[in-house]
Amino acid sequence: MFKKYDYIVVGSGLYGATFSYLAKKKNKKVLIIEKRNHIGGNIYTEEIDGINVHKYGAHIFHTSNKDVWDFINQFVPFNDYVNQVLANYKGKIYHLPFNMNTFFDMWGVIEPNEAKKIIDEQVKKENIKEIKNLEDQALSLVGRDIYETLIKGYTEKQWGKPCDQLPSFIIKRLPLRFEFNNNYFNDTYQGIPIGGYTLLINKMLEGIDVILNEDFLQNKEKYLRIAKKIVYTGAIDEYFDYSLGELEYRSLRFEEIKMNKEYYQNNAVINYTDKETPFTRIIEHKYFENIVSSSTIITKEYPDTYSKGKERYYPINDEKNNNLYNEYLKLAKKEKHVIFGGRLGNYKYYDMDDTILKAMEDIKKYL
Ligand code: FAD
Ligand code: UDP
Repeated sequence: MFKKYDYIVVGSGLYGATFSYLAKKKNKKVLIIEKRNHIGGNIYTEEIDGINVHKYGAHIFHTSNKDVWDFINQFVPFNDYVNQVLANYKGKIYHLPFNMNTFFDMWGVIEPNEAKKIIDEQVKKENIKEIKNLEDQALSLVGRDIYETLIKGYTEKQWGKPCDQLPSFIIKRLPLRFEFNNNYFNDTYQGIPIGGYTLLINKMLEGIDVILNEDFLQNKEKYLRIAKKIVYTGAIDEYFDYSLGELEYRSLRFEEIKMNKEYYQNNAVINYTDKETPFTRIIEHKYFENIVSSSTIITKEYPDTYSKGKERYYPINDEKNNNLYNEYLKLAKKEKHVIFGGRLGNYKYYDMDDTILKAMEDIKKYL
């Protein structure tokens, strides 16, 4: 039977856009189906008063993979933004990630050996033999003071669970250094696409058909008839109609506020690390691209429990959910005409560079 498209790509986020661009380059006919009213998935930005607003939370591109960096830079130039995050704990400001500036803020020390000595003493006191969860991991890396001030409250708000019930890998995302260096990431390359992420995705999707406001799962049969293969970047449990049970996710709520003053917090990102403040961070968008203007736009990010109908922002990669995901993966392998990709399709805590790399690898594997 004649099929109009080689690939129908479900989702216009970074995975869908990368896959579509690379498939088109190989002369494949691609159609994208997107259920939101815009392209870009969670990296979508919208220009408001000359400021590119990150509508689904701060997105800073960082990678150590030169192929990924070169790939993404062919569409739009990136600026040299370096993410330097501050933490506000009950009104006092601390530097992140954990580095000599943080140790100075906390203990007034300026020598790496002094900081190491304090941390070593605190770690020893905890007497942790085996790392079983995020709390063990954090206490064995930085000790009690930093854990209580900068980690515990933030993490428990963010994930809605106590730290001793969370997987340890989450905290290893943050660098720990004994030098004065506030760069939030260790990667070789970092920046923000000049003109916003939506411009970037628009460039990637030039010449590719996109249908917005359409939920693939509502019209699955229709689309299967017109495409040889489906690339699905939605939630994997939803694809299988939750037949094995529901995977857990964490959702978010964003409160965007425009202010008629030049600056609000004088930094792109400030985390609120106490348990009581209901949001985890405030971002001030103009700092991502050094915009000079008389007004400013901020977004408060509130963690939220996930329930059907809300957006799924984070997979919860603990043992229970990973096991369930592996059961879904077995079903997915039987769907020979479907490639599952992206943060939701693979149920993985991918950063943007991981997402692009995975799409590149999948193109090599399947095309
Ligand atoms: P998504 O962006 O979620 O795209 C999936 C798309 O599929 C969505 O548009 C969705 O509407 C659509 N879709 C789903 N189901 C259907 C359906 N049935 N029919 C039609 N369409 C459907 N990474 C970094 O590298 N740096 C950062 O600073 C960073 N910050 C982040 C901050 C937050 C708050 C979050 C949540 C993530 C952050 N990330 C960051 C990660 C980054 O957002 C992801 O790596 C990337 O967006 C994943 O792209 P994706 O295409 O897999 O998923
Ligand atoms: N984290 C923390 N305190 C902070 C910032 C982060 O304890 O001030 C922990 C928290 O558990 C978080 C994890 O480190 O989930 C990873 O942080 P990152 O900034 O990478 O989170 P993301 O941007 O992916 O939400």
